[in-house]
Amino acid sequence: MSDFIFHNDCHKCRYSGESRFSISGTHLKQMCGKCGFYIKFLDHKLFPSVADLRLKIWGISGGNKELIEMAKVDISFAEIRNNDTSISNSLTNKLQYWKLYLKVRELSIAPINPDNAL
Ligand SMILES: [Zn+2]
Repeated sequence: MSDFIFHNDCHKCRYSGESRFSISGTHLKQMCGKCGFYIKFLDHKLFPSVADLRLKIWGISGGNKELIEMAKVDISFAEIRNNDTSISNSLTNKLQYWKLYLKVRELSIAPINPDNAL
């Protein structure tokens, strides 16, 4: 799986992979997924919707609900709901799903520990 959404080659730590984000005023700050080195500011309109991220998460997990639940526990996932209980598409909630996406991605591509191999 190498279908990145915001791929970055870090000039500082040489990490090649998906980016991390944080909210900075009305923009999103894009950073290296490993060392947090600043990449650029991104218009939040260019960030995928919660619906898109949910699809992506499902895809990279191979439809593995258990793995997604494990990832949610790992990152203390706390989804934001609207008053009518639909899933919020706010920037804060998008970033929750981005964190989940990164964790599911990490768990999905984690190498098998050779000590546990037969
Ligand atoms: Zn880096």
